[in-house]
Amino acid sequence: MTGSDSKVTAEGSEAESSEAAARRVAIVGAGPSGLFAAQALLGQEELPLEVDVFDRLPTPFGLVRYGVAPDHESIKSVAQALARVFDSPKLRFRGLVQFGDDVTREELLAAYDAVIYAAGASEDTRMNVPGESLPGSRSAREFVAWYCGHPDATAQDLSGVTSAVAVGVGNVALDVARILTRDPAELERTDMPQPVLDVLTTHTVADVWVVGRRGPHHASFTTKELRELCALDGVQVTVDAGAFEGIDEADLDRRTRANVDVLRQAATRVVPEARCRLHFLFWRRPVAIEGDACVRDVQLERTALDAQGRVVGTGDISTLEAQLVLRAIGYRGVPLPGLPFDLERGVIPNREGRITTEDGHPLPREYVVGWIKRGPIGVIGTNKSDAAETVRLLLADLADTPRDDAEDRALLDLDRHLAERGLHPTSYDDWRRIEAAEATRGEGFGRASTKIEAWAELLDLVALDRPGGPPTPADRDG
Ligand code: NAP
Repeated sequence: MTGSDSKVTAEGSEAESSEAAARRVAIVGAGPSGLFAAQALLGQEELPLEVDVFDRLPTPFGLVRYGVAPDHESIKSVAQALARVFDSPKLRFRGLVQFGDDVTREELLAAYDAVIYAAGASEDTRMNVPGESLPGSRSAREFVAWYCGHPDATAQDLSGVTSAVAVGVGNVALDVARILTRDPAELERTDMPQPVLDVLTTHTVADVWVVGRRGPHHASFTTKELRELCALDGVQVTVDAGAFEGIDEADLDRRTRANVDVLRQAATRVVPEARCRLHFLFWRRPVAIEGDACVRDVQLERTALDAQGRVVGTGDISTLEAQLVLRAIGYRGVPLPGLPFDLERGVIPNREGRITTEDGHPLPREYVVGWIKRGPIGVIGTNKSDAAETVRLLLADLADTPRDDAEDRALLDLDRHLAERGLHPTSYDDWRRIEAAEATRGEGFGRASTKIEAWAELLDLVALDRPGGPPTPADRDG
């Protein structure tokens, strides 16, 4: 079917015999953590390896494609560096394979010498306040997925929204605040889908509120991102009175002091004829979201720290009018079928990447990297050292494990097994076809590249040249 698929074929005896000694590793998840793991596996020469990277999407790069804001081109360029790993003849991309449904843990363990789970954190934390499920109140994760063109995302309707609230003071809150306040003309250079750009070009949001339950010196956003947001053209920044009270700058670390300085300066900058306003509210937490058919306002309670340093409410409640509330209070990993899970932390239990049972017993040949290993913290680059740690242990384990001849046949069984069930994983060449189509579509709009966000179109593109027709069950069309 494609060039990359011919690297390992069901009948390819020549390629097979010359590579008979190679050990096989499956990676579940083609996001940055999975691809950094592939890089680390294939970047060493002591142990010959073949690596298959599975993903439920036909597109690799995970959060780099569907989580990094489209206007953060320099961070997104990590995809180009990650893509180079696919130059290796030892690596196959196996798209449109859903772990748990299309392939099980047992099947992977039967087919590979080792399995690395790089499934990320696909859910988000809830505030657990009344009204949180009203239309107009949703997770920033959903909003991010929409503007990044994720095929599962629900189209967002901003009609009638004049005031929007981002809850949380991390980088995700800054991302959504920036996308809502940035001059839409500046978004044209991004690869966001054209229907998304159309909504963001015509919306009427005039006030965006970023709400933190502690002080500016406790915020988890990074200074670079904060500085960028506070310097946007045509945006008047305000910081609520009293936010800086009691902060002794001498006690702050470098990042925190820089954050406080950026906020102080932004609050004094007057932007004539501002297009919109960006308000930072600290020491407030939502206690209810109100509205009838949809969100009308957020009830905010003033907060303080108790003697143990915990956030507590003071009972002082105020009403903030808003029609859109985006909770950006952290992502959460979800359990993978058949694998142990630490529900409290939202991670697969592990020791430096070696998976263990919930009570700490090692599970041989299974490993974990990225957010499903350590929780949803750190920037894209954090995944490189994280993957290196896991891969170092995996290689040591493989080197210590005698090879079983029967394992040579197992991968062939898996390919056939999937085909027998009508599943034809997509390849890296299929992804390149999507990429080319996105460039062509972008040209049509006078833009460099425009993401294709509809499942049906993605499936059409990967079905080209495929004698068996579209490769996925109908339930993926949603
Ligand atoms: P985050 O940095 O952990 O921030 C979560 C925020 O939510 C914190 O301000 C936290 O406050 C607040 N919060 C948590 N529970 C809350 C509750 N019940 N009520 C009110 N507020 C609550 O998470 P994130 O913004 O989702 O980012 C996830 C990771 O991705 C981070 O490592 C981030 O740096 C990274 N990221 C990076 C970029 C970039 O580099 N450009 C962009 C996006 C994301 P407390 O501190 O008081 O708990």
